[in-house]
Amino acid sequence: MNIIGIDLGTSNTLACVFRNGEAVLIPNGEGGYLTKSAVSVMEDGTIITGRAAKERLLTHPDRTAASYKVFMGTEWDTCLGQQYFKPEELSAFVLRQIKQDAEKFLQEPVEEAVISVPAYFNDNQRCATKLAAQLAGLKVSRLINEPSAAAVYYRWSNPDAEDGKLMIVDFGGGTLDVSIVECFDNIIEILCIAGDNHLGGDDIDAAIAKHFCEVNHLSQTALTPEEKAALMRQAENAKTALSEPETDSSLIKLPAGEKEYMLNLDRELLAKLCEPVFKRVEKVLRRALENKKAARGIRRVVLVGGSSRMPVFHDFLEKLMSARPVIAADPDKIVALGAGVCAGIKERREELQDIVMTDVCPFSLGVATYNSQIDREPHMAVLIPRSSMLPVSHSSRFYTLHDGQEHLRFEFYQGEDYFVSGNLKLGELKVRVPRGIAGSQWAEVVFTYDINGILHVGVESSGGDKRETVILNPNLHLTDEEMKEAMERINSIRLTTEAHRDEQLFAQALSLYERLGDERRAALSRGLELYCGAQDAQDIIAVRRAEEYLKELVERFREELSQDPFAQLYGLGMDWDEDTEEPEDE
Ligand code: ADP
Ligand code: MG
Repeated sequence: MNIIGIDLGTSNTLACVFRNGEAVLIPNGEGGYLTKSAVSVMEDGTIITGRAAKERLLTHPDRTAASYKVFMGTEWDTCLGQQYFKPEELSAFVLRQIKQDAEKFLQEPVEEAVISVPAYFNDNQRCATKLAAQLAGLKVSRLINEPSAAAVYYRWSNPDAEDGKLMIVDFGGGTLDVSIVECFDNIIEILCIAGDNHLGGDDIDAAIAKHFCEVNHLSQTALTPEEKAALMRQAENAKTALSEPETDSSLIKLPAGEKEYMLNLDRELLAKLCEPVFKRVEKVLRRALENKKAARGIRRVVLVGGSSRMPVFHDFLEKLMSARPVIAADPDKIVALGAGVCAGIKERREELQDIVMTDVCPFSLGVATYNSQIDREPHMAVLIPRSSMLPVSHSSRFYTLHDGQEHLRFEFYQGEDYFVSGNLKLGELKVRVPRGIAGSQWAEVVFTYDINGILHVGVESSGGDKRETVILNPNLHLTDEEMKEAMERINSIRLTTEAHRDEQLFAQALSLYERLGDERRAALSRGLELYCGAQDAQDIIAVRRAEEYLKELVERFREELSQDPFAQLYGLGMDWDEDTEEPEDE
């Protein structure tokens, strides 16, 4: 049985497997490890994912989606081409690609995965993630919090590091997660977690883009979708360039309408634009440190996530904490590596036998209650306080408030506000109670929060009425039939690989083949054969290689033809695209 670990990130998705005592990253068809979490619908209705899809964000923004992870577990959907997609369906396409890549790498079927999710993901978001995996044909053997996965790998790959407390800050594309972890021998204990599900590098890109428009007196809303996408890309590139020590400034250029607009982004300006984003980071850090018991004696701050590569971020943290943070060796791969180790634990790999990891519940969970009949607004009766170690189960008894009351209705919430109105509603249940005077009848509510971070609720009344539920967004709770339909829908859409045939190159090669009659024809024939063979085998790397080879041939022969005075006479190599009658080269 193969279980893989998957980091399903806002910007990048990675997969990892535990083999021969190592966490091994799984290469994608592009020859790298980071698959862009982007989906694009081609004109023929097929789907592409990864880098090619992200590129199409520039040319076909109306057919392409990225950064949809922030909408997981919500009602959001998007129209690409002519079809509507939900975030979990978009995720499913990327997961399907990852599954294929893993099967190719392992040469065996892969049906199970450990998937990491932001610690701050609520039940709806977790269930949506599970659904995405199911749609892609993957059973989720465990959902693990991203910072916990990072902590596991950090500890596992630094076995000689001293025991003690670490603070792990994961600053990615769309989410920020902070966790305080205590390591002792092989025990990795997560002490507390804080986070923000809508904060990351994307916000910095947006701030740069906004500033660009302000200084250039452009209205962001007046830009075409293509211009907007180009600006965001330029902003991201300029930001990333400034992470290189030798780069002090980076020029952003945007042709829009008749004009070209510009902005020179330097470190100082970047730091200024990052300020509001970093203020929000600070808030999350403070929240983590407010847990005094967990925060006492932290030895080291470890940075992970792509955005933690920014020197301006290091400066900000250093100033805030009076200590230079450590950047993890592979900041954008460590969560996947950790998920890979966890997959190895699930596979019961011997080398991982003694690793123990405990995790916590990142938020408080409770029931809406009234203290008395005159209470106006319901408040939280917390059953599971935040930072409780998982799995955890607590129960509480609630009594009737009125004489003759026939039902007790419970609404379940997550959050830290006193009044439930400030918290997130997860679901509700109603039970019958025997009629009686106020306070004589009751119901017992049991909350169980499992290691996947999913809440199960059971309610039993004094009359013996029993109800149970797993908290799910009702919109995600599909019946078997609906699930089957959704899977069929997803599976009916063909996934194309990144290796689209370069039609222009192909046409040029065919036309040259037609034209050339010597050993050059034989060379082209071989090149075309390789190219088509790799296409048929859906071997993306081989397609790339064959494409390079064919391109070289085409360029060389075109060059030769253009130097051939005879060929020039007929305009060969000059008006390549023109459909002229050409003579044989014999
Ligand atoms: P996620 O886990 O959300 O998929 P990652 O950890 O892969 O995200 O990080 C992606 C984010 O990191 C993006 O916002 C990207 O712009 C940013 N990023 C990646 N490399 C760099 C870099 N060298 N400098 C600054 N930001 C970077
Ligand atoms: Mg991440």
